[in-house]
Amino acid sequence: MEFNNTWHNELSGFYTALKPTPLKQARLLYHSEALARELELDESWFNEENTGVWSGETLLPGMQPLAQVYSGHQFGVWAGQLGDGRGILLGEQQLSDGRKFDWHLKGAGLTPYSRMGDGRAVLRSTVREFLASEALHHLGIPTSRALTIVTSDDPVYRETKERGAMLLRVAESHARFGHFEHFFYHGEPEKVRQLADYLIHHHWPSLASEPDRYLLWFSDVVERTARLIAAWQSVGFAHGVMNTDNMSILGLTLDYGPYGFLDDYQPGFICNHSDYQGRYAFDNQPMIGLWNLNRLAHALSDLMTTEQLKQALSLYEPALMAAWGERMRAKLGFLTPQTEDNELLTGLLALMSQEGSDYTRTFRMLSETQQQESRSPLRDEFIDRAAFDQWYQRYQQRLLKDECSDAERQQRMKAANPAVVLRNYLAQQAIEGAERDDITMLQHLHQALCNPFSDAPEYADLTRRPPDEGKKISVSCSS
Ligand code: AMP
Ligand code: MG
Repeated sequence: MEFNNTWHNELSGFYTALKPTPLKQARLLYHSEALARELELDESWFNEENTGVWSGETLLPGMQPLAQVYSGHQFGVWAGQLGDGRGILLGEQQLSDGRKFDWHLKGAGLTPYSRMGDGRAVLRSTVREFLASEALHHLGIPTSRALTIVTSDDPVYRETKERGAMLLRVAESHARFGHFEHFFYHGEPEKVRQLADYLIHHHWPSLASEPDRYLLWFSDVVERTARLIAAWQSVGFAHGVMNTDNMSILGLTLDYGPYGFLDDYQPGFICNHSDYQGRYAFDNQPMIGLWNLNRLAHALSDLMTTEQLKQALSLYEPALMAAWGERMRAKLGFLTPQTEDNELLTGLLALMSQEGSDYTRTFRMLSETQQQESRSPLRDEFIDRAAFDQWYQRYQQRLLKDECSDAERQQRMKAANPAVVLRNYLAQQAIEGAERDDITMLQHLHQALCNPFSDAPEYADLTRRPPDEGKKISVSCSS
């Protein structure tokens, strides 16, 4: 395995070099075999004698561990320097195909940026981040990935005493909006430029020699952010803490905290119980994405003219609408765009919102539609059957406009409408097992989330309607 650390070598002044502080008597609880294969790691890496690699005890050749410094706007307010108080970037793995991935250990102990925190992560939030990042990846949504969970009996204190843990996550880059804000607000415009140049060099190399490279690069950041949020909306994912420090420059989903997948379709769903105003409610995410990009634009104001910044920002809404429309049309099984598509989509969403229909199950059941069949498989799910019937008749008519057999459409729709998503109550069951060192549910759920579009009977227990009490689990930020 080959490691390097360009953040270390090319960005001095952007971090503090330091080693992780291992947890006492750490043990490897779980790892992702699928990701290990992608990273060209054979299974022996996960034997007991290699636990130190995952617990921060052992550094591999070429690793140069460091804590990145960044700032951010939290809940709409400038919060100054706040990260990275508990994450250590170990190094960048070079794969044989030329790709490179940051290896980042979250919960790796105190750093100069820990402020009042203890530098640790609890097992509960580590399991949640592991499962959610793997879930989003397999739904085709850009995200950091999760490789290992290490735990120990060392207690970590939150609202109660909890078990400590560490997550080894990988991502093409951990660069955040908050990195740019940090140096901008510190009055260090040369560092803002240096970071932009670094990112363009490593992640947008085709732009490096363009005279308008900053504009082209920022325009792409805007569009990636728009596409990411469109993807979240389409699968019913609420991030929960879209502070600018949690926003990735590469357009990845980063930092899973009190996120939630919709059970009932409630557009104003708030998953974070500390979000009293609903700033990060599900249906606010598209607007917040743009707000965050405006903060980033401000931090880049020494690199581009106001006109250029505005030009890039103006790409956001059309990119978001195009990406969302495309994903939602696929969920409805529409092949070619037609004028009535939007009305059919908003009509169905309005019905679902009125009835509190289960977001995932509704689209999955719709995927069984037979165009000629006057009774929809979904009909019995609705209380207002007359309203549903009216919608369904128009839907049937619309399906006629695509030349496509039922079987073909059903197959396409099932590839766009997952059977399994990471419902909160399922994550909770995996956590409760993990707390007892029983990884049966963690493994079962993880495997299902790696195949979210499958009808396999072994995952049938994960596709059911959630129990009422399972919808009420609320998640806090203190993780
Ligand atoms: P979050 O809202 O979880 O993204 O946290 C914001 C920042 O607070 C992160 O960048 C972390 O570095 C820092 N932080 C969160 N929890 C802790 C902790 N237990 N100890 C030190 N720093 C922390
Ligand atoms: Mg964060």
